[in-house]
Amino acid sequence: LFITLEGGDGSGKSTQAQLLTDWLEAAGHTVVRTREPGGTEVGVEIRQIVLHHRGEVSPRAEALLYAADRAQHVATLVRPALARGEIVIQDRYLDSSVAYQGAGRVLGGPEVRDLSLWAAEGLLPHLTLLLDLDETAARGRLDADNKVFDRLEAEKGEFHARVRAAFLDLAAAEPDRFLVLDAAAPIDEIAAVIRARVATLL
Ligand code: C5P
Repeated sequence: LFITLEGGDGSGKSTQAQLLTDWLEAAGHTVVRTREPGGTEVGVEIRQIVLHHRGEVSPRAEALLYAADRAQHVATLVRPALARGEIVIQDRYLDSSVAYQGAGRVLGGPEVRDLSLWAAEGLLPHLTLLLDLDETAARGRLDADNKVFDRLEAEKGEFHARVRAAFLDLAAAEPDRFLVLDAAAPIDEIAAVIRARVATLL
């Protein structure tokens, strides 16, 4: 079972991924909790390049770096875990590329999706949890965490509006794969909705 979490910065993906992991492990499942970019050794270095050279890396180079990270991650970590029958819970996957590089960097959603699918050998998640949060709320959360410096600060408001709209479009296009959650709701409420959906897949 392959579950991904998507959404803007500060939408609570990591928190929900951890709560879901804890719940599944308590029920006796083996869970691989991972993230993208950076879930492998090669990926960590790719993540450094992308994050440390913001504004220098061209949009196409950025898309290819994320695709390279994804290819390595799927080939060496995700596919082997799924083949062992484990549950993979992953922060960000190809929908992030479609939203950030395709819509945010305006490279085109379909092109970036095709590139990602090629990199990932066509692997799609069984379930994608989209934590949807409007930008004002996201900014407030990151400010509170003091993490704002290299995240939302680095991009313009319209960029994030495009990213959010792209995520919602993706969810509307694949309603069976996506579960859209209001990220402004209480953490426990969101977690309960996620557990109810995941229970139907076990
Ligand atoms: O939330 P996380 O720490 O995974 O994101 C790292 C950064 O990389 C975020 O600021 C996000 O906006 C960016 N990102 C991106 N394109 C992707 C994945 C992440 O621009 N495909």
